[in-house]
Amino acid sequence: MNTSRIWLSLAHMGGKEQEFIKEAFETNWVVPMGPNVDGFEKDLESFLGNDVHVAALSAGTAALHLALVMLGVGAGDEVICQSFTFAASANPITYLGATPVFVDSEMDTWNMCPLQLERAIIDRISHGKKVKAIIPVHLYGMPAKMNEINAIALKYKIPVIEDAAEALGSFLDGKACGTLAESAILSFNGNKIITTSGGGAFVSHSEDETQKSRFLATQARDSAPHYQHTQIGYNYRMSNVVAGIGRGQMLVLKSRVEKRRSNNEFYRNELKSIRGVSFQTEPDNSFYSNYWLTSILIDPTLTNGKTREDLRLKLEQENIESRPLWKPMHLQPIFSDSPYYGTGISDFLFERGLCLPSGSILSDSELHRVSKVIVDFFR
Ligand SMILES: *Cc1c(COP(=O)(O)O)cnc(C)c1O
Repeated sequence: MNTSRIWLSLAHMGGKEQEFIKEAFETNWVVPMGPNVDGFEKDLESFLGNDVHVAALSAGTAALHLALVMLGVGAGDEVICQSFTFAASANPITYLGATPVFVDSEMDTWNMCPLQLERAIIDRISHGKKVKAIIPVHLYGMPAKMNEINAIALKYKIPVIEDAAEALGSFLDGKACGTLAESAILSFNGNKIITTSGGGAFVSHSEDETQKSRFLATQARDSAPHYQHTQIGYNYRMSNVVAGIGRGQMLVLKSRVEKRRSNNEFYRNELKSIRGVSFQTEPDNSFYSNYWLTSILIDPTLTNGKTREDLRLKLEQENIESRPLWKPMHLQPIFSDSPYYGTGISDFLFERGLCLPSGSILSDSELHRVSKVIVDFFR
């Protein structure tokens, strides 16, 4: 094969990242704190707005773990989590000995279904269970129906943690994803909309909670010269070196979102006449997705039986990476004992859905190469 591989989503540096890293070296701030960490947190706070505070951590998974610790989640508790997501949304629940309860998606945004959420809460309460938190996810950048989810959460007095790992730069009603609940988590893993190579953040409307997350993330060290501890701590703080990458990436975040959205627009135009292909789409203009990954559904009853898997293999043959949508957590062997509330929507989406190459680094000719393979495949 002489054509170069097209990847799903690659890191895309802006150019200034190494200046911040150089500064970290020159000032010997090569530790898990320092001016880049502080600066990155400030940059995120001003981008997100809505009066949130941010603690930069080693991973989004670590941020979610700490968010659950701070809500007092422990053995025997339950945490409601969107089923249609990446495993990192659910794994931290189990770190604390709690049980994830999975809730299905709705068809509009592909995220947590408010109806199934309420059904789950009522049923868990009737079983005498304690639901300590709700974790909705903004999948592929699409904001979940947070107004409905928050209203239900308020009714039953259960705190909400937004998993905004894929949704930095997405908005609902003009408010940034990551600021739509009491707390949220972000990820800066290598394939996310911006990256620090690996990293994450805890986001909260409460300055005290954010400060507490920093405390827990640095081994819960009390303020005493002799290393005193009254709580179990973690080593989850972000390094000042990688925070330099984050500061550089914040300079280009807006243009990264624009490019991902323009990729999405491109695919929509190119594929619009293909019967049986549809897109994850903003339900109305109160939803603004960063379209981290452009995701399509293939209806084999309208494509002469051609399936998502057929297309994926065809793209692979042409040296193009694509990926099925996340396999829902209630279908994962590891979570087969966890309760699930739903009507099979995420199963349906998983069966039919495919993520297309969506990186902000993609060139026009690469996008054309992908769309041509898809158009020819269905012709
Ligand atoms: C990437 C991701 C995470 C985890 O973030 P890490 O920084 O990789 O630990 C959590 N939830 C979702 C939905 C993600 O896509």
